[in-house]
Amino acid sequence: MLPRIRLKYILFITFTLIASLPVLILAGWVEESALNKEISSVKEKHLLVARNLTRGLERYVGDVESSFNLVSKNMVMGIKIGGISAYLDSLFLRYIRIINPDGVIIKQVVATKTRKVNQVNSQTLKTLSPIMKKARANIGNVMFSDLVRTGKDKTTFYLVKALTDGHYIVGALSTSYILKVQKKISFGRRGHVAIVDRTGRAIAHPIPSWVKTMKDMSFLPPVKQMMQGKTGVSKFYTPAMKADMVAGFTVVSRTGWGVMIPQPFEELQERANDVREIALTIALIGVAISALISWYIANLLCNPIQSVVDATELGTDEDDSHPISSVMTTQRFIPYELRVLLESFNHMRTNLNALTAKLHSKIDLANAAVKDQNILLEHQSKILMENNKILERLTCTDPLTELFNRRHFDNALGTEISYALRHREAFGLLMIDLDYFKDINDTYGHSAGDKVLQQVATVIVKSVRQSDIVCRVGGEEFAVIFLNVTDNEMRIVAESLRSKIEQTEIMFQGKKLAVTASIGVSIFRGSSEESYSQDQLYKDADTAMYYSKNHGRNRVTHYDDIAKTV
Ligand code: GH3
Ligand code: MG
Ligand code: MG
Repeated sequence: MLPRIRLKYILFITFTLIASLPVLILAGWVEESALNKEISSVKEKHLLVARNLTRGLERYVGDVESSFNLVSKNMVMGIKIGGISAYLDSLFLRYIRIINPDGVIIKQVVATKTRKVNQVNSQTLKTLSPIMKKARANIGNVMFSDLVRTGKDKTTFYLVKALTDGHYIVGALSTSYILKVQKKISFGRRGHVAIVDRTGRAIAHPIPSWVKTMKDMSFLPPVKQMMQGKTGVSKFYTPAMKADMVAGFTVVSRTGWGVMIPQPFEELQERANDVREIALTIALIGVAISALISWYIANLLCNPIQSVVDATELGTDEDDSHPISSVMTTQRFIPYELRVLLESFNHMRTNLNALTAKLHSKIDLANAAVKDQNILLEHQSKILMENNKILERLTCTDPLTELFNRRHFDNALGTEISYALRHREAFGLLMIDLDYFKDINDTYGHSAGDKVLQQVATVIVKSVRQSDIVCRVGGEEFAVIFLNVTDNEMRIVAESLRSKIEQTEIMFQGKKLAVTASIGVSIFRGSSEESYSQDQLYKDADTAMYYSKNHGRNRVTHYDDIAKTV
């Protein structure tokens, strides 16, 4: 059987899908473009911040350099400058010294917290020697060293200038200003500023240990680019943060320091996610609204059709006596075509119901006629059966005495022999012939004879049991079949019958008529005499009866008693 999918649901799902699709596509597009927009805006912002920061650092480096030149010039000329320590403090310069190539300090100005010494220690001299060489090659120009570790957590840049007299001016610049600048700026949750020297080592970074150890960050793609003096935006993975980062970067041209503003990419996604949530909410509301509208339209179209279907299903019931109900709908607005369909259906239904009712009344009439006919037939068949019974009785009844006739006697004798054989039972046959009956006819007339026959018949019937079979087998001859009897009982009953006939007084036209009978008896013994035939049994009873006739009449003879003599 095909699955019952309702039109309403098909329409509802289809409408909802069609209506939701553009909303969902739009929401997806909004989300995607939000992320893109976020990325591009962040790129611009990062680069801008990096550039601004670099500009500040460039200014600072410029200030430091020109101050270094000015102070060193005065020192060489032997001019004293008042408040020099505070001035150096403000620039984060720890000292400016004039030294000979062996590190012996000839002149010096120091910041407030810096101690004065006479000799540059050998470690520092070793660090300074390549820069001093460079400075010697570029007399008059200030050389900036790479980042140098000068204490437990202190890092320094050296500024070196060679003098024509073989001496050098050496300045020590602390990184405090750069660290301060770095700390001031942060982005989102984990966005920050990282500043490296021209070899890619960390000057300022949010991870303190990296600053302490001057972490070599040149493995990062943006740092590599900065070391080549490039400016730009780059997306990269950093193992320290275990995250994808996006960074804007640029370079301080004078010193080669790199400034980059990295931020985890994830944060950009989070920002875009906010937009996505809004887009998703709007999309869900859109889907819900389209589902509601779809449901309304599906109902609007399908409810009228459903009411026709309901009415039709009632009409196609097994029991077609149900009239088809008319289509009812409570729906206020029904589209035109559907309204016409409903009206047509109702019209058709009215006609069909009328036709069905007509047909039913015709069928009822026909059924009633058939019923009458059946009653009549039943009645006739009853009469026929009764007639048959009468006919049957007539065919086996003697009309004068109303005893069984000869034909029935023959049948009954055959039946009893079979029964006796089956059940090993004995039965007796009695033959009765009235004595000198012809004389009664001759003397009193035939009707007197008839009356005698009727009276004797009555006497015989009254003298035997109901189950015994009494027959008139000839004119004035009777036969009685006694069922289930012994020899002795036969003797008693035969003698009693003879005596009752003798004693019977028959009144005819005021005269007493008397009659006697000669009786012969034979017995069928079912157990022992299977070959004993019906004819033989009858013949033996008849022989016994004639024996009674020949030996004085009005007597009983048992065939068994005379069998040996005949
Ligand atoms: P027996 O003692 O030797 O038998 O003498 P019987 O006169 O009885 O013997 P028989 O056979 O010569 O006579 C029988 C008579 O019975 C002959 C016949 O007219 C008469 N009979 C037979 N049927 C009827 C009947 O239906 N009605 C009347 N009234 N008489 C009948
Ligand atoms: Mg006779
Ligand atoms: Mg007779």
